[in-house]
Amino acid sequence: MTEPITYLTTTIPYVNARPHLGHALEFVEADVLARHYRRRGHQVRFQTGTDDNSLKNVLAAQAEGVATQDLVDRNAAAFEALRGSLALSFDEFVRTSRDPRHRAGVERLWRQCAESGDLYRKHYGGRYCVGCEQFYLDTELVDGRCPEHGTEPQLVAEENWFFRLSRYAGQLHDLITSGRLRIEPATRRNEVLAFIAGGLADFSISRSRARARDWGIPVPDDPDQVIYVWWDALGNYLTALDYATDGEPYRHWWVRSDRRLHLLGKGVTRFHAVYWPAMLLSAGQPLPTDIYVHGYLTVAGERISKSGGTSVDPVALVERYGVDAVRWWLLREVPRAGDADFTVERLAARADTELANGLGNLVNRTVSMVHRYRGGVVSAAANGGVVPAAPTGGVASAGSDGDAGRELDRALERVPALVEDSLADFDFRAATGAVWDVVEAANRFVNDRRPWQLAKAEGAAGEAAAAASAGLDAVLHRLVTTGRAIAAELAPFLPVAASRIEAQLTPAADGTLPPAAPLFPRLADR
Ligand SMILES: [Zn+2]
Repeated sequence: MTEPITYLTTTIPYVNARPHLGHALEFVEADVLARHYRRRGHQVRFQTGTDDNSLKNVLAAQAEGVATQDLVDRNAAAFEALRGSLALSFDEFVRTSRDPRHRAGVERLWRQCAESGDLYRKHYGGRYCVGCEQFYLDTELVDGRCPEHGTEPQLVAEENWFFRLSRYAGQLHDLITSGRLRIEPATRRNEVLAFIAGGLADFSISRSRARARDWGIPVPDDPDQVIYVWWDALGNYLTALDYATDGEPYRHWWVRSDRRLHLLGKGVTRFHAVYWPAMLLSAGQPLPTDIYVHGYLTVAGERISKSGGTSVDPVALVERYGVDAVRWWLLREVPRAGDADFTVERLAARADTELANGLGNLVNRTVSMVHRYRGGVVSAAANGGVVPAAPTGGVASAGSDGDAGRELDRALERVPALVEDSLADFDFRAATGAVWDVVEAANRFVNDRRPWQLAKAEGAAGEAAAAASAGLDAVLHRLVTTGRAIAAELAPFLPVAASRIEAQLTPAADGTLPPAAPLFPRLADR
């Protein structure tokens, strides 16, 4: 097969709690890319899952007084259920505590790095944040506290296994500066290069079984040590492809693929852009080709972890406002670089303006007019699809669609390339903006051509009536084909709405369009 092979992943979240809106952002972005590339004929595998083996999960279970596996299973099920709530199209959902391929794959990765001479034991002391599952240098703390969590890291001193990260600084620098490992946006790439230039220290990749509360994957041939959860978690990108047995999915999606793309949040850039590529170099494996780092969401100005409640629960938001409105906000308002602030008012305003009033109204009035003027039947395009001006518009430029028609042509012509280029840059706002431009151009076209006046004019007698009649056929035909084109372009972003629009604009067995029905509810009053 000659289709490009694209493998894309989200990070696998800790399952110490239920999913929040920040997770939804990453899942929806990855879903858009997966749907887009499938539509363009790529072979696509979209993988997500959960990081079950974290000490955070153990502590959360203790706080609730439940068994760790029970808490992990319960919360992992909530993450997997986002497939339905958010209309996600992932092909694989890996669970690091449950998937038999995972542990065997992590062990293989460990042994390969050991064979390269990159693993060694050392006594170590440092400050560890359980929330981040990482050691911090004193210089990285803010007033002695974790910069992510604001909590005081605990002092840990024990003998651990270490990975010789220091050995890979030069190779990583060359890979990133040459673009063979592409990191977007550029601010993140520069941060990674600055981190590498500052000198890479070897890092601890195991902990004592006691400190791990006996949870996680034991170190091969050293069962008193448990593999560091990040080593374990990063491995999922390979292990769920059946890396342990050199399986065909691994060879297809990792070794032979054209693109290996990781999506992640800015807090875990270092793990994905430094540690993980170094582990792969050590193990003699191909590297990811692309890393896209999204920003953080705040909710009404507060960090999601602090705001809590239903305002950040993606399932509750979908139940109340619908999946289209939630996906549309995430894609239309979150910039490709930097953070974004969410409020339900912004979600409702964006959906009402663009989905209910802009797009919904366009499709609704198209279908209504086809029923009112043509009994629900879309005529073949008269006059080669050229739409004459409405008769009261002064002297019609005969044989012309007018400026509004030409503008609509241009918007339709431009949209595939604009979407392609914007998504290549991970600019979801620009990509949805290109589709939105078509909606606006189509609404201007309706207002410019005024089909209701053509309908009035065709009631009169004579040649003018015949021209108006042909004109009305052409306007309606053009609006229906435009609506279907919008649905096709919208499909990666709003798959559920796109299929509703397609259904509205597809004639039934009797040749007529279904009756006009509102496509998007108005949300402002909810
Ligand atoms: Zn932390």
